[in-house]
Amino acid sequence: MTSSADLAGDFLAYSLAGARPATPAAARGVGAHGLRWQWLDDGILLLEPANVTPATRSVLLSAGIHGDETAPIEMLSRLVADLAAGRAALACRVLVVLGNLDAMRAAKRYLDDDLNRLFGAHAQRATRAPGRETPRAAVLEAAAERFFAAASGAAASGAGAPLTRWHLDLHTAIRASAFEQFALLPHTSNPGEHANGNAPARAIFDWLADARIAAVLIHTEPGVTYSAFTADRCGALACTLELGKVRPFGQNDLARFASADAALRRLVAGEVASPGASESSPMPRVFTVIGQITKQSDAFALNVAADVPNFTPFARGTVLAEDGAYRYVVQHEEERIVFPNPGVKPGLRAGLLVVETTRETLAALR
Ligand SMILES: [Zn+2]
Repeated sequence: MTSSADLAGDFLAYSLAGARPATPAAARGVGAHGLRWQWLDDGILLLEPANVTPATRSVLLSAGIHGDETAPIEMLSRLVADLAAGRAALACRVLVVLGNLDAMRAAKRYLDDDLNRLFGAHAQRATRAPGRETPRAAVLEAAAERFFAAASGAAASGAGAPLTRWHLDLHTAIRASAFEQFALLPHTSNPGEHANGNAPARAIFDWLADARIAAVLIHTEPGVTYSAFTADRCGALACTLELGKVRPFGQNDLARFASADAALRRLVAGEVASPGASESSPMPRVFTVIGQITKQSDAFALNVAADVPNFTPFARGTVLAEDGAYRYVVQHEEERIVFPNPGVKPGLRAGLLVVETTRETLAALR
């Protein structure tokens, strides 16, 4: 019922319909300028330029890890159509991943478990649950590992290799934020990623500036997100992007995403972002995680408004949370709260605290 043209021409509709290629031949196609595409699994599509060289970047672009975060899903589907039709240029291997298709069909963030808490060894120990998202996490992990294993320079470990491997995981946030669009950089123990004393790579900051991302949050502990997995396991320059507010399919103002969309298209076209802080695209401000609020029991009280925007600053001495004998008191001159959520189960994180580290982080970029 669905032709192969629809597959690349409207990858979102094809995937939401649960369509699958009828034959192995129907899973592959050739687009404009010799572009080759290959359907690999539900919501997973490989795109390669006609010529792949050792310098060719491999870029994993994922969206819909949370099913109701529709704008970036639509953005990626349009990018696939434009690449296949030659309306956008392709100079990279690109793996497009639409994450939680079941949740997208239900217009929900997730069905049983938050998919973006189920990735990697840390999740397998701590939080991997037997719900409907668990097998999908395994599929997406395997897809990323296969994609990056076949990447140029796969045999080369060490300096240089990580720069050819990128993963941008696109989200939209539920709550308001002092910075409407921001990025989360995972902590990683990958030695290639940390060649310069844990300093993040300048390349990703240049790209974030090009995308007009206002702020970057740097995690300091292992994560259970898709980008944490690809950074740690695949040596990718990886980040999670929060690109604005959640809305239903068709109700997104994609103009708000124009800067990120344009930067994404420049990345896959092989254009290099202009380095450093220019007047037109200043470097993002940087915040580093320095602590978290942990819910101890059902007596937990978070002393901030339920709808407090992400990155809201609090002064030293502010008691942000109380729970029996436990108190979280702001220790730094200023700390900002991110992802506050008093509704989590006891024992889990009810909010992250960050401090600004813009000057030292940007000075140390490798
Ligand atoms: Zn999300």
